Amino acid sequence: MAAEPAKTGPEQHARLRGKCPICGGLSEQKYAPFCSRRCADVDLSRWLRGAYAIPDNAESEDGGEEGTGGAPTPDELASKE
Ligand SMILES: [Zn+2]
Repeated sequence: MAAEPAKTGPEQHARLRGKCPICGGLSEQKYAPFCSRRCADVDLSRWLRGAYAIPDNAESEDGGEEGTGGAPTPDELASKE
C-alpha cells in the first residue's frame, strides 16, 4: 500500500508547460494542455467524433452513413486560423 507508484506520467508533465496539440501554441494553464478554449473545443469535437466512430454496439446494425461531405469540420476551421 505504501509502495504505490507515483502517478506522474508524461501527460502530467506536459500539463505544466507544453504546446497546444491543436495549433502548437503555448498552452495556457486555464485551458491546459490547450492554448485556448477554441483549441480545447476542437480537440473535444475531434475526440467525440472518434468515439462515435467506434462501433461498440454490435447488436444494432442500422448502417450509419459514412463520408459526410459538406460543412467544414471544426478541425478545418481551426487550421485556417
Ligand atoms: Zn491552440
